[in-house]
Amino acid sequence: MNVEKVILPPAMLGMLGGGQLGRFFVIAAHEMGYKVTVLDPDQNSPAGKIADVHLCAVFDNVDALNTLASTCDAISTEFENVPATTLETLANTTIVRPSAASVAIAQHRVSEKNFLQNAGLPVAPFVVINITQDLPEDISDIYPAILKVARFGYDGKGQARVKSNLEAQQAFTQFKGEECVLEKMLKLDYEVSVVLARDVDGNIAAFPTAENSHLNGILDVTIVPARDVTTHNVFINQQAQTLAARLAETLNYVGVLGVEFFICNGELLVNEIAPRTHNSGHYTIDACVTNQFEQQVRVMTGLPLGDARLHSNVVMVNLLGDIWQNNIEPAWNLALSNPKLKMHLYRKHEARAGRKMGHFTVIGEHKDEILADAMKVRNQLGVDT
Ligand code: ADP
Ligand code: MG
Repeated sequence: MNVEKVILPPAMLGMLGGGQLGRFFVIAAHEMGYKVTVLDPDQNSPAGKIADVHLCAVFDNVDALNTLASTCDAISTEFENVPATTLETLANTTIVRPSAASVAIAQHRVSEKNFLQNAGLPVAPFVVINITQDLPEDISDIYPAILKVARFGYDGKGQARVKSNLEAQQAFTQFKGEECVLEKMLKLDYEVSVVLARDVDGNIAAFPTAENSHLNGILDVTIVPARDVTTHNVFINQQAQTLAARLAETLNYVGVLGVEFFICNGELLVNEIAPRTHNSGHYTIDACVTNQFEQQVRVMTGLPLGDARLHSNVVMVNLLGDIWQNNIEPAWNLALSNPKLKMHLYRKHEARAGRKMGHFTVIGEHKDEILADAMKVRNQLGVDT
């Protein structure tokens, strides 16, 4: 039984990272009556701007960590690459969820893949690359492949598609000989993800399986419910839920977890895990009883998990900096005049190509209709043109 006491409002909660995930966390925590301190080195960080306290410092700044530990009753992260030592240090004096150990596994592609394989979870064929000689010869059936740096990759950054040993060597040199994994390029049927929360007692609340499509390695559109197909008489969406829960249990994970899957020849493979709220879970803000950020607050504070039920069909579209051509604001009036559309802009200081600036969802009863609506607005805003 959980004997720890519940942290109630108006306690101060700490968030490592001040991006959009942190910003939505601040909004959820504020709605529930909590205060938030955000640690982020960017003085213009979207979450820092609306937090009660913004500690503008790097993630291993000793003074900032001391302040966090002494003023916050519980701390979490929105930034996958926060040093594991930072989480360990904070955990000496305050509640930190997820644990440093879980984050350490997810932030390194080699330990992540080893963990997944040891847990009996299927992954794409891969080879660990430390030196050029580790790169397989041309005859290997791993090609065409994707070389991915083991650390600090996100949104398709730190990845190169390669067709031969020579191309792989060139990419490896470009990545400055950093440890990498070389992964077989799979022909994907489609991709799905599961975002779940697991509390300190081991209870799990999983959001419905989401179907994701990517553009240039960056999430573009999420559709929920995902299409569903059977393999071996089991529906893919249920299999994804089962695998995600198994994964969280094996990790003894406490917090919100995002699990990305590939579906390849009708089989589910785990692509990667994120020890935090996830872009593909943004639909929960508008379409679920509890959203992923409130769930993060609940796990941190020891409150029971909220109802993860979907109350509407939903389509989410990411808005990247590319649509701010020549620094001109996109035609928001078109999007905002749709009564089923919910706009979320992150107030980032500067629009850059490939940078996540916002997203919108369209919610409603009829899946085909909302998908058509969302795609229409997506085009009107100039995505993919
Ligand atoms: P990131 O950390 O940038 O999200 P991912 O490894 O998830 O990196 O890759 C981003 C996207 O690139 C995936 O969602 C998928 O669309 C595509 N991708 C990555 N690896 C493979 C692969 N082995 N085969 C086919 N597509 C892939
Ligand atoms: Mg990914």
